[in-house]
Amino acid sequence: MSSSYVKDLMVEVKAKNPAEPEFHQAVQEVAESISLVLERHPEYRAAKILERIIEPERIITFRVPWIDDQGEIHINRGYRIEMNSAIGPYKGGLRFHPSVNQGILKFLAFEQVFKNSLTSLPMGGGKGGSDFDPKGKSDLKVMRFCQAFMSELFRHIGPDTDVPAGDIGVGGREIGYLFGQYKKLRNEFTGVLTGKGLNWGGSLIRPEATGYGAVYFAAEMLGTKNQTLKGKKCLISGSGNVAQYTTEKLVELGAKPVTLSDSNGFIYDEEGITREKLNFVFELKNVRRGRIKEYTDKFKSAVYTEIDPKMDHNPLWDIKADCAFPSATQNEINAKDAQNLVKNGVYVVSEGANMPTTIEGIEIFLDKKILFGPGKAANAGGVAVSGLEMSQNSMRLPWPREEVDNRLQMIMKNIHKTCVTMAERFGTPGNYVNGANIGGFLKVADAMIDQGVV
Ligand code: NDP
Repeated sequence: MSSSYVKDLMVEVKAKNPAEPEFHQAVQEVAESISLVLERHPEYRAAKILERIIEPERIITFRVPWIDDQGEIHINRGYRIEMNSAIGPYKGGLRFHPSVNQGILKFLAFEQVFKNSLTSLPMGGGKGGSDFDPKGKSDLKVMRFCQAFMSELFRHIGPDTDVPAGDIGVGGREIGYLFGQYKKLRNEFTGVLTGKGLNWGGSLIRPEATGYGAVYFAAEMLGTKNQTLKGKKCLISGSGNVAQYTTEKLVELGAKPVTLSDSNGFIYDEEGITREKLNFVFELKNVRRGRIKEYTDKFKSAVYTEIDPKMDHNPLWDIKADCAFPSATQNEINAKDAQNLVKNGVYVVSEGANMPTTIEGIEIFLDKKILFGPGKAANAGGVAVSGLEMSQNSMRLPWPREEVDNRLQMIMKNIHKTCVTMAERFGTPGNYVNGANIGGFLKVADAMIDQGVV
């Protein structure tokens, strides 16, 4: 189809959603893939399915006033984007980061609709968060903010309506405070959030799931070339939840992870990040909440490079390697970074973060025919295990670690298979971007047709 269909759609999307560049980017990428489906299935076009998916079912914005430990009043803004509930309750994380705005959350919620559909579990798509920055704040401040945030959010969510989880800036600590406040306000102990602590309804493997899943997906892609991750040199960005467990699984499978980063800079450990070194990172990031630079104080094999945001590329992506796992944030790989990666021999990219590669960067990966696993597919392991946490909560029965991990592996295998099959069926073999977008779209589209215009 016509690129004119995508062009017209984008004119409308931009006019209707001004100043939301990340949302435009996410829609454009999906629309280009879905235009392949609309050519063969005019019924989806007639039912305006894509146009309907683009419009959130509901956007909730609210004031979050809170008082810090010195008695000062702060005002943040809270959001929940309830994007699509055709195949299940809204589901998706909460992000606490100063860069959060409506456009960023809309892009994340939009991506989530397709990702959740790919997992084959009954989950709709949503996303939320706040411009609150938990970095460097005391536990008490974080608790007060979380309580104030939930004091409004609680009336919009519920185990059968909308089930938030973590994302950037929202980990186990924040989910605990949010859950505590929800429980107090509702007087109900339910599975309203996922990523909970193990003693109070959480699932084994949930903290590990996104990172492990991104590695399982990379292994599946390599499997199509009869290769494994053993001995592969791997670049990882970020040093939060996704980056940590990506590193852990890579170490376990005999690969050689060599980098980690935060928003200030990155470490490059030529000898490889080992189990022992990773334990230091867990403590540094999750307990002491320090900066990744400290890694080089402890391990002399590593060098630290400060990232200058004014540079036109990130030197982390200019290191010779086999695989890359972008696991920090959106648009962290631009066209120049993509060129550098390919030039340096990287031929597997598995996106742990959401939309970490720009549209121009993706074009380079597709053009060079590297194994490129888009976030929607590659990082779906996190929400998949959140879905399994919901099942365990409904049954009031926790599953053992092995069972959850086996299910996660099976889900990642199936997502990979869906991507491969759909890419082939719609004439673009090996294109995981089209495969993921189309695979995610079809299930939601059929459900929307069945349910009428609502
Ligand atoms: P964390 O908050 O645990 O870690 C985020 C990491 O990325 C930190 O190292 C942070 O550094 C870095 N980072 C964040 N923003 C920026 C930025 N603007 N520039 C450079 N570095 C940055 O988040 P997660 O690990 O949970 O999330 C990482 C990515 O994975 C996000 O894109 C998220 O949407 C995605 N994701 C997460 C899932 C999950 O289950 N947690 C599921 C699926 C996707 P610093 O400390 O300096 O801010």
